Amino acid sequence: MKKMSLNNVAVSVILFVLKIRKNMTFDNVADFIDRTINRFKKEPQPLHIVISDPKGIVVAKILAPYDIKHMYRDPKNMPGLCPVCHCTVEKIPNLDYYTSTDKDIAITYDGFYIVRDRFKLFCDKRGYEGLRFIPLKKSLRHFYFMPEEIFQMDKETTVTMHQGEPCSVCGNYFWTGTGGHNIYSAIRWGEDDDFIQRTEELYTSKYNKSPFVIVGLKTARLMQEYGLKGFYFDNIYYKLEDQGTDKDKLVERSI
Ligand SMILES: [Zn+2]
Repeated sequence: MKKMSLNNVAVSVILFVLKIRKNMTFDNVADFIDRTINRFKKEPQPLHIVISDPKGIVVAKILAPYDIKHMYRDPKNMPGLCPVCHCTVEKIPNLDYYTSTDKDIAITYDGFYIVRDRFKLFCDKRGYEGLRFIPLKKSLRHFYFMPEEIFQMDKETTVTMHQGEPCSVCGNYFWTGTGGHNIYSAIRWGEDDDFIQRTEELYTSKYNKSPFVIVGLKTARLMQEYGLKGFYFDNIYYKLEDQGTDKDKLVERSI
C-alpha cells in the first residue's frame, strides 16, 4: 500500500514536471540532472555526524573585515597563482587598485586585505613586528596589508575541511574552510598578549584564498580604544584539557 502511494506520488511529480516543462527533451533532463549534481559538488559537503567543538577559553581574536570589490577584475590577470590549479600561492596586490572605503580594514572579494592609514598609524605606534604595508598608488590613504608571522594553531583540535584533491604542484585544495567550527590556538595566550599574526593555512576557494589575521586579546582591546572601526572580531580558543579527549570525534573531523 505504501509502495503504491509512493509510486502515485512519483507519477504525479513526473506529470507535473512534464506539464510545466512542455518542451522538455532528453537533453533538458540530462542538463537538469547535471546541474543539480554539480550544484551539490561545488558546495562543501555537509557532515553526516554533528560534531561539537571541545570546550575552550578565548585566547585571541580573528580580525574579521567586511568585503569590498575585487582587486583583480579578471582573475586571469592575477599573479601569484599555481599554473596548474589556479589556487593562490602568494598574494600579490595590484598597486593600481582604487578604493574609497572608510573601513579601517577590509578584504577584497578575492582575498586581499586593505587597511587605511589610521590602521597603519596604530600599528606603527605599537611597533608590531613583521607587518607588510604596501601603498596603493591610486588610493592614497590605503595600503595592501599582510602580517608575516605565523599563528601557531592547534592543528589536532581545529577542524579543517577540504574539497577536491590536493594539487600535485602546489598542494592546495579547490576549497578549504573550517565549516563554522572554532579555531584553537596551540599557545595559551593571556589577556596581556599583544601581537598581529596570520594563519599558515589559506581559506576559501581557488584564487580567492587568503589567511585569517589573528590578534592578541590586548591588541583587540587597544584597536577598539584607538577607535579603529568597520570590522569585527571572532574568537580563537585554547582547548581545556579537563574536558577529556574524544578520539572518535577527532577521527570524524578529518573528512
Ligand atoms: Zn596547484
